[in-house]
Amino acid sequence: MTLPLKQRPLCQYRGRFAPSPSGLLHFGSLVAALASYLDAKHHQGSWLVRVEDIDPPREKAGASSEILKTLEAFGLHWDESVLYQSQQSELYLDTLADLQNQKLSYYCQCTRAEIKAIGGIYQGHCRTLNHPKTNSAIRLINDHGIYRYQDLIQQQVQCNQALAQEDFILFRKDGLFAYQLAVVVDDIYQGISHVIRGCDLLEPTARQLSFFPILNAVAPQYGHIPLAVTEQGYKLSKQNKAPAIDNQNPQPALMAALIFLGQKPPSALAFVAVDEIINWAIQNWQRQNIPQLAEIVL
Ligand code: GLU
Ligand code: ZN
Repeated sequence: MTLPLKQRPLCQYRGRFAPSPSGLLHFGSLVAALASYLDAKHHQGSWLVRVEDIDPPREKAGASSEILKTLEAFGLHWDESVLYQSQQSELYLDTLADLQNQKLSYYCQCTRAEIKAIGGIYQGHCRTLNHPKTNSAIRLINDHGIYRYQDLIQQQVQCNQALAQEDFILFRKDGLFAYQLAVVVDDIYQGISHVIRGCDLLEPTARQLSFFPILNAVAPQYGHIPLAVTEQGYKLSKQNKAPAIDNQNPQPALMAALIFLGQKPPSALAFVAVDEIINWAIQNWQRQNIPQLAEIVL
């Protein structure tokens, strides 16, 4: 494949945080940002921020810059410049064209209702139908889909095999690039070696692990942190009772996030400057202390 993507030197740690600007950071996303930052910095790595702004209907005006302001207020300073996925279209299109030329993908015109009617898992119906490009989604031929993998935090992860081995969508019928395409192309483009993020992405990780080798790239290592949920099992948001994300007073949420991640900050740390808390956390980061649970109820 003539993919114009470079592989990173294998010895280098490069982590990233990749928020979608569909809203402001909440406690759960702050925890993910902090964990990926601390893991990178504890290993003398770089930490990059990538704004995943490829789904305009779901975006909130001003959210990207608010997210970046919050990261700065919490002492999470990124290396290199922020990458915006909205600027990456050419690379996504080149990748799609390469896959199509090599017959590693195909056009699909099935509707959501049709797939639901056969049980919700796509069965490759359009693989041999040679649909035209118009009004089609593009699916990846996922013949050797990985469904089990070793996670840096959750250890052995096993996903639903049929779901992990589905021919998943790379380009949507509505004309938007799919998350799976953009995230893998950009993890390769940015030379990401380690991805630390929330357990809501355990299943997508299996698909991503299958996709890297198809693009002739080595996949990063993945570590999934527990999700912060409410007693009712909802993912955290502004409405429920996680410590508020207050850019003017970041210490309480920062301390709570460290404790959530199984770290043991001395209580006196709550009263020092943010950069001092972060320095303590980098020095004392213990990845193996992160709880090995899919969810933690706050
Ligand atoms: N942009 C995705 C989200 O905010 C996360 C992508 C990722 O970490 O791979 O849920
Ligand atoms: Zn189809």
